Amino acid sequence: RAGVPKRPDWLRVKLPIGPEYAKVRKLVDEHKLHTICESGNCPNMGECWGAGTATFMILGNVCTRSCTFCAVATGRPTEYDTDEPRRVAEAIVLMKVKHAVLTSVNRDELKDRGAEIWYQTVRLIKEASPKTTIETLIPDTKGNWEALERMISAGQEVVSHNMETVERLYRRVRPQARYERSLEQIRRTKEYGQRTKSGIMLGLGETHDEVVKAMDDLAVNGLDILTLGQYLQPTKMHHEVLEWIHPDTFAMYREEGLKRGLKYVESGPLVRSSYHAEKHVNV
Ligand code: SF4
Ligand code: SF4
Repeated sequence: RAGVPKRPDWLRVKLPIGPEYAKVRKLVDEHKLHTICESGNCPNMGECWGAGTATFMILGNVCTRSCTFCAVATGRPTEYDTDEPRRVAEAIVLMKVKHAVLTSVNRDELKDRGAEIWYQTVRLIKEASPKTTIETLIPDTKGNWEALERMISAGQEVVSHNMETVERLYRRVRPQARYERSLEQIRRTKEYGQRTKSGIMLGLGETHDEVVKAMDDLAVNGLDILTLGQYLQPTKMHHEVLEWIHPDTFAMYREEGLKRGLKYVESGPLVRSSYHAEKHVNV
């Protein structure tokens, strides 16, 4: 591709092998669960699964949306599995997970946007394993604030909602989402009393000023924790990587974020929103 240099050395990662990895793989398969680690082709599977952590994706593995960076299948979801919360909780107990990260596809076709399954999943994990802390990486509820309240009121420690990119690129990157609506969701989550977290991918063609503007917007809307990472293209059909952001630039953005009053900024090429998530519980 003209103009886009080859993937740099700092993005080379370990292969996902080893006994712990095999154990997680077996549990996920046996419990018929989905993980965003696999669906998103995450480069950190060796590290995370090797350490016994995984990000579970609930509400099926078909999404009503079609974000151009995302490897999850788009379509009309058929799955509504009321036993899923129980199986997720059981897998978390068996894996002895200290900090669980949960996420889901968007279920815009459901009136409650999947809020009830979200609520039950968090409750059952807390019942089965009271010491496990939980981060819920929730979709936007398309302005259904009642559904939002149900999703975030189950006793989880962190509520994240990823902005994913800067405002100008929404139409290309998150065509069914609205920048202002996602900001409002974060603001309402904060007003509800929750610890808030969001993530932005870099390398999609955003400028420095646009990234800083997004951080300003997040700070005034009550964001606590921000993750910034390099976007990687899951397949040739997805949005192109337009830039490889240097580790020094990530470090500079971290400082910019802290200056704006964000409490914690995790910023680096391999950072994903669920990377080192256990650190965010006490922020
Ligand atoms: Fe899974 Fe998140 Fe780790 Fe990637 S960073 S392997 S998505 S837990
Ligand atoms: Fe992927 Fe989430 Fe977008 Fe669905 S809403 S396509 S799961 S990023």
